[in-house]
Amino acid sequence: MKKSLTANIMFLFVFFLFTGLVTLPAQAGKAGKTVFATIGTGGITGVYYPTGGAIAKIVNEKKEQYGIRCTVEATAGSVFNVNAVLSGDLEFGIVQSDRQYQALNGLEEWKDKPQKDLRSVFSIHPESVTLVATVESGIKTMTDMKDKRVNIGNPGSGQRQNSIDALTAVGLDYEKDIKKEEVKAAEAPGLLQDGRIDAFFYTVGHPSGAFKEATAGATKVCFVPISGPGIDKLISEKPYYAKAVVPVKHYPTAQNDGNVETFGVKATFVTSSKVSEKVVYAVTKEIFENFEAFKSLHPAYEDLTKENMLEGLSAPFHPGAVKYYKEAKMVEVDKSRNVLIEKDGKKVKIGTVGK
Ligand code: GLU
Repeated sequence: MKKSLTANIMFLFVFFLFTGLVTLPAQAGKAGKTVFATIGTGGITGVYYPTGGAIAKIVNEKKEQYGIRCTVEATAGSVFNVNAVLSGDLEFGIVQSDRQYQALNGLEEWKDKPQKDLRSVFSIHPESVTLVATVESGIKTMTDMKDKRVNIGNPGSGQRQNSIDALTAVGLDYEKDIKKEEVKAAEAPGLLQDGRIDAFFYTVGHPSGAFKEATAGATKVCFVPISGPGIDKLISEKPYYAKAVVPVKHYPTAQNDGNVETFGVKATFVTSSKVSEKVVYAVTKEIFENFEAFKSLHPAYEDLTKENMLEGLSAPFHPGAVKYYKEAKMVEVDKSRNVLIEKDGKKVKIGTVGK
């Protein structure tokens, strides 16, 4: 019995190896043919996962030319991705702009440990800190959350700190004033629909599978505004937060009349200083040269422009990305390695080139 199980596992492994469903990076390196670049995303009902897929699809169309093959991994989210990129487990990661800033500057999960090897490639879609609650729970404002069962997000996710910041800003202690859950975003809609939680936070682009699932079941739910003087103060204090809305047009069965106020960040594409210039250049070039094709792959990219894909980044740019931006005449680089764009006839610094 045991022997046949081992044999089956071996068979499956060899099968997956041949079909390319699992890869051996070391072997690929030795053969000198294909370099594997893995992109860390998020849960499969978010927007990072299809975004990783969209990037991989476009880059893999030139697999033969570059000898690069992109693969996508579902992960716990932003914080996990930063750490996995810096440890060399992943070549790229999709990361909230606030988490990028915190990692670079040694804040929150990286307190006193600035992650100096983190590198920006480009930014992608906007993400809003989104709170949804069952109508039955009676939660209509943030302060109604007292003593309610609320999912703040799993460790490793980007949203966990956004939930804590929002709760703290309205005077609620996330450890004491709510019944806190910390499950992954992919599990939260099911729990909400089953009445096992009253509300959950998720920082994500729209539309997302998670909120389609949360709003489409028999249990009536509504998006809750994250607004008021406490939230305004939070936004003014943190450089990485800005006002945003939840666009409810994507979720017609949610019990809301119009867009819901909140705050938000941006999804960004990051790598490490240790990843080769060749790989980062190829990925950057393919996404920008096939911009319209990329943009058509997800409705969350509705407002993307090549120009705004260079905004919201705080880590130094990877030299491979800048090589493309210079070639495409999108930026100039001065002697002090400052990256400049032209805005209203003036040169404006948007970052630096990392080493
Ligand atoms: N913003 C979430 C996080 O950083 C992920 C959202 C998504 O997967 O689209 O963890």
